[in-house]
Amino acid sequence: MTTHDNSTTLTKLADTFGTPLYVYQQSALTDAYRAYTDAFAALNPLVCYAVKANGNLSILKHFAALGSGFDIVSGGELARVLAAGGDAGKTIFSGVGKSEAEIEFALNAGVLCFNVESLPELDRIQAVAVRLGKKAPVSLRINPDVDAKTHPYISTGLKANKFGIAYTDALAAYRHAAALSHLNIIGIDCHIGSQLTDLSPLVEACERILLLVDQLAAEGIMLKHIDLGGGVGIVYDNEEVPDLAAYADAVAKLLDGRELKLMLEPGRSLVGNAGVLLTRVEFIKQGEEKNFVIVDAAMNDLMRPALYDAHHRIETVGGGEGEAFTADVVGPICETGDFLGQNRRLACQAGDLLVVHSAGAYSSSMASNYNARNRAAEVLINGSDVRLIRQRETIEQQLANEQACLASQPQPLADN
Ligand SMILES: *Cc1c(COP(=O)(O)O)cnc(C)c1O
Repeated sequence: MTTHDNSTTLTKLADTFGTPLYVYQQSALTDAYRAYTDAFAALNPLVCYAVKANGNLSILKHFAALGSGFDIVSGGELARVLAAGGDAGKTIFSGVGKSEAEIEFALNAGVLCFNVESLPELDRIQAVAVRLGKKAPVSLRINPDVDAKTHPYISTGLKANKFGIAYTDALAAYRHAAALSHLNIIGIDCHIGSQLTDLSPLVEACERILLLVDQLAAEGIMLKHIDLGGGVGIVYDNEEVPDLAAYADAVAKLLDGRELKLMLEPGRSLVGNAGVLLTRVEFIKQGEEKNFVIVDAAMNDLMRPALYDAHHRIETVGGGEGEAFTADVVGPICETGDFLGQNRRLACQAGDLLVVHSAGAYSSSMASNYNARNRAAEVLINGSDVRLIRQRETIEQQLANEQACLASQPQPLADN
């Protein structure tokens, strides 16, 4: 979304719905989804959108309508998928710490697969399946031990990470699973990290996982699918990002002649560049060493700069008047880490509208109420139509869970 084409629209949206405001473009969601299904068409993959990137119900509903499956990491995300009309039968349950209640919920809902990350998790899923009298479909998440060459906080495929089963333990883990009565072993998966800008680790991971598929077949453990996770990066600034067609070609060569269904779990690359955050300039503050553009969005709305030192392009809607100057774009929160961008050149003044780009993924889904701020409203635009897809939170909503307790009396802790 470039401000020059859209400044009138963005200004109207901010005037109508207020700021801070997340704005998503439906055609960009569709295009990003189709980029995967087109590039990988020859392999007919199941694309499972990673809900944690952006779990807004209207966004999930849109992906469900396109035929997408879902990758979830909590019972809450499963509830979101179901509330949006998504298909549990196309939903994969990932994550290192699934609770018994979450496993039960997912088994009863009929999820496609549990992506299992440890032996104790296999045992827990077995126990719940026995209790419910069901068979649980499982895939083991194997850590291929390749360097994804991304930010340490979002790199997950190295030995030192908490994610997945160690490559060298993989065969033993499958044998363990095969000995459990109520598990149905159907696949294998990996996910080596996020915002990958290089194709080679993805291809190398696929190669290493396929070696295991062959070793398992030799032992009589036949898998139906291989899931390569998510992780393809997007352009925030001027990064080179992997070409999906090249990725698909490489995977097709590796899968050639095998009866393995391909699954993918992209998150960021389906939504990241379909969204922007609109924020209004409150004040310009000239510091002794730095200038600050103080805006009405903050780290509670968009945490990525504080958490990952992430870069989001920021522009003044309409270009701004007067001389450009260098400043940090900061929110009102009482934290030095509360910035949306540092050392940016902008022409703007109080009252101007700024657009923060590439804010569709890991942005609204990471929002919090820090400093008792209400979470932002979200809108989805489709051509010239606009729809509110999340109402701006109210202070009454924030206070409700605590107000209900204000008048309650302390009670002795009950014995169980
Ligand atoms: C976060 C995550 C994804 C999505 O990653 P992106 O980098 O957003 O594509 C996919 N699979 C798993 C298991 C994840 O944890």
